[in-house]
Amino acid sequence: MKIKISDRIAGLSESVTLAITARAKAMKAAGKDVIGFGAGEPDFDTPANISAAAVRAINEGRTRYTPVGGIPELKCAIINKFSLDNALNYSPDEVVVSCGAKHSLYNLFQSILNPGDEVVIPSPYWVSYPAVVSLTGAKPVILRTSAERGFKVNPDELRSVVTDKTRAFIINSPSNPTGCLYTEAELRGLAEVACEKDILIVSDEIYEKLCYGGSAAPSIASVSAEVKARTVVVNGVSKAYAMTGWRIGYAAGPVEIIKAMSKLQSQSTSNPASISQWAAVEAISGGQDTVDVMVAEFTKRRDVIVEGLRAIPGITCNSPEGAFYVFADFSGLYGRSSGDGPINNSLDMAGYLLEDAGLALVPGSAFGEDKFLRLSFATSMDNITGGLKRLGAALGKLS
Ligand SMILES: *Cc1c(COP(=O)(O)O)cnc(C)c1O
Repeated sequence: MKIKISDRIAGLSESVTLAITARAKAMKAAGKDVIGFGAGEPDFDTPANISAAAVRAINEGRTRYTPVGGIPELKCAIINKFSLDNALNYSPDEVVVSCGAKHSLYNLFQSILNPGDEVVIPSPYWVSYPAVVSLTGAKPVILRTSAERGFKVNPDELRSVVTDKTRAFIINSPSNPTGCLYTEAELRGLAEVACEKDILIVSDEIYEKLCYGGSAAPSIASVSAEVKARTVVVNGVSKAYAMTGWRIGYAAGPVEIIKAMSKLQSQSTSNPASISQWAAVEAISGGQDTVDVMVAEFTKRRDVIVEGLRAIPGITCNSPEGAFYVFADFSGLYGRSSGDGPINNSLDMAGYLLEDAGLALVPGSAFGEDKFLRLSFATSMDNITGGLKRLGAALGKLS
């Protein structure tokens, strides 16, 4: 028979970050020496106390279906975390646990959007935002920012793109891919526009714990009770606790929305893995020393990679204040040629660096900004220093 794929899925683009990582892995498996700057996950192991909690859950037979929206113990840990870290008070029916923050975002957009609705997405954006918004039939409205202004949106810019169809806008601070971090005052300004225009705020706070130089990431929901009432905060354990494979994320917000998301989960995934939920209880409510160790190491790497990149002619970059990526401007080198032809955009540049230098970077086009490439520093210091040398040499060969 002729197999047909739905228009919805046929029109969906594959995650470029995962694709680059897969290509780099395949080259490595074939014996090529590839240094990966593509990773979207910490290179640390999950802390031992967290893994032990999972083993305990298995041994104690906590392996059956759980409540769809998460075990009460995990909801309680999440509620305490919001109270302690963000001065936000939620009740259990305002929290839902999903199979990763990505799953929370998917369920959220499925729950709040109709075809024709609009969602404002600042660019550079995390690759999945436009995809999951589009899947609902709603329209992503891309709001471009500039490196000069730290890749941040200001209230006037937000106001200028809101229409009567706008349902929500997405904020991701610290940001993947730019590492920018909004101050409380900046968040307040954006929140005012959301209130004025009566739109929802979707705040992806997955990198909340990964901030450098002593800065902290405030939650936009903390601005006021009025703002909290129109905000859905999405967070999870993947990045802060090196738990990307465990698949636990969560959302907190207005009870009607959380209920709708839980209903969707009840008919699709059911509960997130019971064992992972018990591990997440330990991650969120156990000792946090491992986070500090990770942040200290990421800080060192950030400083080395930023200094190294800035020393390469043709590259400019901001120093990220959070997350573990540098979003570097390579456009000063566009128009030059390698042996294989001209390099005119971020995809050409990523292809050249992978094939000729064995360096895996993610092209900025995946995040909506073609002048840039993203380098993850969730890789060893040796890889960073070795990779920077190789990068300088490969770019120096261009004519
Ligand atoms: C990694 C990431 C997520 C998804 O995290 P999971 O909990 O592993 O699904 C969400 N948002 C951003 C910006 C990310 O980088």
